Amino acid sequence: MAKFKALVVAKADKGQSVAVEDFDEADLMDGDVTVRVTHSTVNYKDGLALTSKAPVIRRFPMIPGIDFAGIVESSSHAEFKAGDNVVLNGWGLGETHLGGYAQKARVKGDWLVPLPRGLTAAEAMAIGTAGYTAMLSVLALERHGLKPADGPAVVTGAAGGVGSVAIALLAKGGWQVIASTGRPSEADYLKGLGAAEIIARADLAGPARPLAKERWAAGVDSVGSHTLANLLSMTKYGGAIAACGLAGGMDLPSSVAPFILRGVSLLGVDSVMAPKKARLEAWSRLARDLDKGKLAQITQTIAFDALPDAARDILDGKVRGRLVVTIP
Ligand code: NDP
Repeated sequence: MAKFKALVVAKADKGQSVAVEDFDEADLMDGDVTVRVTHSTVNYKDGLALTSKAPVIRRFPMIPGIDFAGIVESSSHAEFKAGDNVVLNGWGLGETHLGGYAQKARVKGDWLVPLPRGLTAAEAMAIGTAGYTAMLSVLALERHGLKPADGPAVVTGAAGGVGSVAIALLAKGGWQVIASTGRPSEADYLKGLGAAEIIARADLAGPARPLAKERWAAGVDSVGSHTLANLLSMTKYGGAIAACGLAGGMDLPSSVAPFILRGVSLLGVDSVMAPKKARLEAWSRLARDLDKGKLAQITQTIAFDALPDAARDILDGKVRGRLVVTIP
């Protein structure tokens, strides 16, 4: 039986072990499409999984990696055939289903989207789940009817993956972008992506007042906790914040004041179980709107064996933008 290289997380006496192994193709999980994975990425959730900082992995042994791009090797799914270029984000990959840190993956064809025209596999993974989530967030704000003329848009966790792509997309859409970062040294990087103003992470990190001075009409928040509460209390009348992350905490110490006194909306964004229609829309908008030069600026490529270090770095807030992993 054929074997392939995979990064495998197994239960160990103390916590979990992480090692590159020869994985038996017969041990792949059920699915109607087998993909030769060429690229994956490191998202925040991958960092949590590889370091076991949060119980992301629900089945052992697990091949982590919540997303991948690759080429279909074999398929019994009507929409895909051998040789097709595909992308997968979420659907429990790297959590309940064997994931992208491997030369092969077997998945449900319903989970796949075709690699968008105009993007390479490496670019699709430079975007990755973080960038696709940034796009879902921008689409949620647009669906809410918000426009650049309504006021600025704030982006938190600005120098991270979701944040970097959100800034580039909003700036391209004509928004005046206010970027909140804990890394003032990245001000030039953020301005290069299109941020008009940089504010300190600390400005939004303390307990929120029920209502504060109105500063923005829209926002993309990847931080949660006090930061999200402050964003809401500073949102203009009728505005909205798309909440997609928890890099600063899972809680939301807010009040109902922004909702009932200013008609502010909190828009929840989930990428993992998002329906195919939403995925296709997001990927087609990314291919159309995301500037390739900016995408290159936010991307670093790392080797397969650098994954464990990269997982620690992303949780420590040391990764700028996005990491692409080349699968050997
Ligand atoms: P990154 O680590 O790349 O970015 C997170 C950024 O948040 C950091 O770069 C840093 O930005 C900021 N940050 C880190 N720690 C803290 C802290 N303690 N307090 C305040 N800010 C902090 O991660 P991703 O961009 O990949 O993901 C961001 C979040 O979005 C994660 O929580 C992730 O789980 C979530 N997510 C959710 C998805 C969904 O489906 N809803 C999909 C993808 C991601 P800076 O240095 O600029 O301040």
